[in-house]
Amino acid sequence: MTLSAELVAILACPSADHAPLRLEISDGTTQELVCTSCASRFPVRDGIPVLLADEAAPGPNGLGVPVDDTPAG
Ligand SMILES: [Zn+2]
Repeated sequence: MTLSAELVAILACPSADHAPLRLEISDGTTQELVCTSCASRFPVRDGIPVLLADEAAPGPNGLGVPVDDTPAG
């Protein structure tokens, strides 16, 4: 079951950035929602987006910290 584009369009990152999310599908089936600001990744389980900070894989700069052009590390 794939999330609809309409649903993805109204979802937002639960962190302070509240940025839009985009849907990524890996392995042909595994769905994740990726924040367009902080690049944190949120799982989709049984077609249900899990937009919880505790369940997220934080982006390179951390949850809610925007990814920019600054080299990491
Ligand atoms: Zn975010």
